[in-house]
Amino acid sequence: MKPWIIGVDIGGTKVAVSLGTQRGKILGKMVFSSGKTKKAKVLLRQIESSISELLKKHHLSERQLLGIGVAVPGAIDPRREVVLKSPNSRYWEHFPVKTILVRRFHVPTFIENDANAAALGEQYFGAGRNLSDFLYITVSTGIGSGIVANGTLIRGTKGTAGEIGHMTLVPNGLLCGCGKRGCLEAYSSGTAIADYVKRELKNGARSRFFKKVKLSEITGQLVSETARNIHDPLAIQAKHQAADFLGMGLANVINLLNPERIFLGGGVMEHIDHFWSPMMEAVKREAWPMALKACKIVRSKLGGRIGDFGAMAVVLEHRQQNN
Ligand SMILES: [Zn+2]
Repeated sequence: MKPWIIGVDIGGTKVAVSLGTQRGKILGKMVFSSGKTKKAKVLLRQIESSISELLKKHHLSERQLLGIGVAVPGAIDPRREVVLKSPNSRYWEHFPVKTILVRRFHVPTFIENDANAAALGEQYFGAGRNLSDFLYITVSTGIGSGIVANGTLIRGTKGTAGEIGHMTLVPNGLLCGCGKRGCLEAYSSGTAIADYVKRELKNGARSRFFKKVKLSEITGQLVSETARNIHDPLAIQAKHQAADFLGMGLANVINLLNPERIFLGGGVMEHIDHFWSPMMEAVKREAWPMALKACKIVRSKLGGRIGDFGAMAVVLEHRQQNN
């Protein structure tokens, strides 16, 4: 029995490498920045040395590893070896992450989309353990989801399932980062919350707080803090709109999949004042009552550790599939 796992969580701004056990105990973690100018080759070298260092620190050899799980933002090819598309981290596209890690450590290595990995994190290490139908939805700079139905992670025919952020809610609506208009992500992400305030200010909206702030300094987090701390009406309005649209998105998902649980995570979910109740109101308004009754919507308890657990869970999921 090999109890140790390495999880590599590649994010838009940082990379985290964790060493943990199959039971979800994280023994050590190393984090470094993945700034946009960096090359995949350079980052991978840093990942390799972090893995080596973690093993050395805990007096382990690579032979004692069950596997390495890598979570990346983007679509993975059907053979699950390279990242095909990663709009925010282009340098990973077609880069042979898996081959290089296998060659270096001689350990089974698996790649997974980050939102799918997060759902696996809930399934193996979180509150999704005894659930067969649930989603993990991350509401952050963007919006993504991992879907587990009948106990199985749903990847779809080409591996792009779960792109809830790009479901259309408004015909000819706001432009989304994906190039389409009216996507959920263009209304409810952290970026969208900041953009709402910027747009309203440009259109002449008044705010005692925001008139002192440069437009370029307005972020989703600042809007959230302003809504919570000083009850700025414009900030509250921005959060209400984002919450209303997210509620509609959740209702669509509930109607479509009849899940028993939806776990919400990501930066936007760290500030739920002026957000949770309008979101739930929209869910109640739009969801089919029978499906809604069966579904609990909660914040993920794994919080900021979801990336680490997700990457580690990728190994357990693949090992289980191969057994
Ligand atoms: Zn989109």
